[in-house]
Amino acid sequence: MSHIMAQRIKVRGVIQGVGFRPFVHRLAERQGLRGWVRNEGSHVEIWVEGSTEQIEAFIRGLNEKHPPAAQIREIYTKVYPVQGYDDFVILESKEESGDIFISPDLALCPECLQEFHSTQDRRFHYPFINCTNCGPRYTIIRQVPYDRGNTTMAQFAMCQECSKEYHDIKSRRYHAQPNACPQCGPRLELVDGEGKACSQDFNQLLARGFIIAVKGLGGFHLVCDAKNQQAVNALRQRKGRGAKPFALMARDLEAVKKYAYISKEEEELLQSPQTPIVLLEQIFPSSLPPALNPGLNTLGIMLPYTPLHHLLFTEDLDILVMTSANFSHEPIVYTNEEALQRLKSIADYFLLHNRPIYHRCDDSITAVVKKHTQIFRRARGYVPLPVKIPPLARKVLALGGDLKNTFCLAAGDKAFLSQHMGDMDNLEAQLEFQKTLSHLQSYFHIAPEIVAHDLHHGYATTQFAQGLNLPLRGVQHHEAHLTSCLVDNEYAEEVLGLVCDGTGYGHDGNLWGFEFFQGTLGQYKRLAHLAYVPLIGGDKTVERPDRMALLYLLKEWGQEGAKWAEKLLDFAPSEIALYQSLLQGTQRIPLTSSCGRLFDAVSALTGVCRRNSYEGQAAMELESLCISGVKETYSFAILQEGPVKILSLREMWPELIDDIRKKGDRGFIAGKFHRTLQEMITQVFVLLREETNLTTVALSGGVMQNKVLLSGLITELERKAFKVLIHRQVPPNDGGISLGQAVIAGR
Ligand code: ZN
Ligand code: ZN
Ligand code: FE
Repeated sequence: MSHIMAQRIKVRGVIQGVGFRPFVHRLAERQGLRGWVRNEGSHVEIWVEGSTEQIEAFIRGLNEKHPPAAQIREIYTKVYPVQGYDDFVILESKEESGDIFISPDLALCPECLQEFHSTQDRRFHYPFINCTNCGPRYTIIRQVPYDRGNTTMAQFAMCQECSKEYHDIKSRRYHAQPNACPQCGPRLELVDGEGKACSQDFNQLLARGFIIAVKGLGGFHLVCDAKNQQAVNALRQRKGRGAKPFALMARDLEAVKKYAYISKEEEELLQSPQTPIVLLEQIFPSSLPPALNPGLNTLGIMLPYTPLHHLLFTEDLDILVMTSANFSHEPIVYTNEEALQRLKSIADYFLLHNRPIYHRCDDSITAVVKKHTQIFRRARGYVPLPVKIPPLARKVLALGGDLKNTFCLAAGDKAFLSQHMGDMDNLEAQLEFQKTLSHLQSYFHIAPEIVAHDLHHGYATTQFAQGLNLPLRGVQHHEAHLTSCLVDNEYAEEVLGLVCDGTGYGHDGNLWGFEFFQGTLGQYKRLAHLAYVPLIGGDKTVERPDRMALLYLLKEWGQEGAKWAEKLLDFAPSEIALYQSLLQGTQRIPLTSSCGRLFDAVSALTGVCRRNSYEGQAAMELESLCISGVKETYSFAILQEGPVKILSLREMWPELIDDIRKKGDRGFIAGKFHRTLQEMITQVFVLLREETNLTTVALSGGVMQNKVLLSGLITELERKAFKVLIHRQVPPNDGGISLGQAVIAGR
C-alpha cells in the first residue's frame, strides 16, 4: 500500500444543477477515497484522502466521466496534511459567493426517455419527466442558488416517492430540482379556442390539419402537420407571415433523414443536449409543401427536446411545424393567459400546462459549415453560459444592436450573453429586454461601470443607453462584429479582418457593411471596403432589393443603367427619372458599402427576389439557387484611393445582364456571383498580407451565415496559406455584437 496523502481540489465550470456532487460522491467511493465535497457557489470544493494512484484515477474520472450536462473549465489541486476522515460525505453548501454558472435547459436524456416509453414505469408517458441530467433549468429559475424553492416548481410539493428519489444519493434524481411525477407534478390540459377543456386526442387533431398552440420550455410554439399543405398555408395566413421559413421538429433521426441530408456533425448537433434547430439541405423531390420554406433549399429541423414533444408524434405524424408563437417582431408568448388571449386568431386548440415559464427562451438556430458548428441564434440550450473573454478592467453592460438583439454583461474574464431578444423596434421587446437585464444582473452580481452601445443614433438600444446614468462608450458596428469573432476564438493577436454585413453606422457617417480591417480587439484601421453606392430611402430600402439594383445601375452606368433597369426591373421611366434627379440633386444621400445590399441588388436583377418580406430573404434565395462547381467570375477591380482599397464591381453589371439575356440560368449566375466575391476577397487579403505581413484572417458579419460563400472562402483562403478564424459560440450576425462591444468598452 502506497503512501496516503490528502488533496484539496477546486473545480470550476457548469457544475450546479447537473448532478455534479452526487457524481463526485460515487466516484470517490468507487476509488475508496475519504473526505468530502461541498458546493461553494462559484465552484465545487473536494477533499480527498487516499493513495496517489487512487487520487490520480479520481481526477481522471472528474475529467472523463462527469455528467453530460456538466462542463468543467478548470481544476486546481493542492496537497495538504492528512486529516484522517473515515468516509466520504456531501457537506452543506456554503452561502453562495463569487461568480456562478446557471445551467441552460437540457434536452430529455436517454435514461429518462427509456422510462418515458416503459409501460411499467410510474412515469410512463409523463410529459414532465426529468432527472439531474436533463430538464428545464434557466427557463424556470427565479433566483439563485438553483434550488427547487427558487424555481417555478416551488408550487408543487413532492410526493413521498419523488421526495425519496430527491434525497437518495444513489438515485438519478438526487437533487433534481424539477423532479416530479403524475401524482405530484405539473399536468397537461387540452383546451379549445374558447379556453374550454376538451377530451379530444391531440394527435388526431394534428392529423386532421388543426393548428395547436403548445406550451414548451421557453414559450409557446404553433404546431401543425408539416406535410399538410392546407394547414401550413392556414398558419402562414393567420400569422400574417410572408415567405419566412418555418422551423420544423422531426420525430427522430430516421424521420429527419427522409427530408434532409445530414452529415455526422449535423447528426451530433441535432442530438446534443442543446438540441438546436439545425439548417439542413433539403432532399428533392420532397413530399413537404413548398410553403414551408419558399424559395429555399434548406430546412430548419430540430428533434424533440421535452417529453411533451415526444407525445405529439405518431407513426404517420413524423414531422411538425414548430414555429415560435409571436407576432412579427415581438417576444415569444409564454403564459397560458397571454396565449389564450393573443393566439386565439391563429390556433384552433391549446395544449397548456401549469408549470410556469419564468424566462422566455427561443429555440437556438445553428448550421454546420465545413464541420464547424455555427450558431445563428443563441438561446435555449446555450444561455446563460458565459463566454471566456480577455480580462476586463471594468464591469460592462453592452446593449448590442436593434436587430436580432442580445445584450451582454461582462466582468473579469467572463461575458454573459442574454438569450436572443429579437428586434428592438417594439415596446414588448424593449420591456422584455429590461426585465431580462435586471434578472441577469442580479444572478451574476454584475453592476456595470460603463455601458457600450452601437454608434447608430437612431437605435432604440442607443437611446436606452443614454437613459442610464453611466459613462457611455459608442462602438462601431463592424468593429464590434470583428472583435466578437476574435474573442470567440480566444485570439488576441493582430489580424486582417473582414466583416460582410447588412448595414452598420460607420465612423464617416456612411452605412458600412463590407469592410476590411487590420488590428485586434478594438484597435483597428479600415484598410479596404466595397465602393459606396447612394442609399436612397435609408433603412427602409432593406425591404426593396429592386430599388437597390436600380441605385447600383444608375450610380455605375448612368443613362445606360436606366435603360437596363427599365427592361429588367419593372420600374416606370418616370420613377427612374425621379431617382436620377435625386441622385443628381443637392440633398445629401447617405452612402453604403453594405454587402447585404449588394446581394439584394443582384438577387433583384436576376429576378430571384425583388421585395424582402423578412431580413435576408433576397440573399438566402440567391444562395439557395447556386449550382456548385462554377469556375467563372465576373469582372471586378481593386482600386487604391489614398491609404484605402476600394472594391469595385462596376464591370460586373453589364456582364451579369448579358448572362441573364444569353443563358438565363439563374443557378449559374448565382454561383458565378458567389465565386466573384470569393475571388475578390481572397485577392484583397493577398494584397493586404503583402503590405502587413499578417497571415491570419477573421471573418464575421451577418453575410457569413451564407454557407456557400463562407465555405468557399475558407477553402480559397486556406489554399492561399491563410489561417482562417470563423465564429464558434456566438453568432456572426448582430446577435454577437454585444460581446464585441463589451470587450472593447471594458478593456
Ligand atoms: Zn433525464
Ligand atoms: Zn411525485
Ligand atoms: Fe451587423
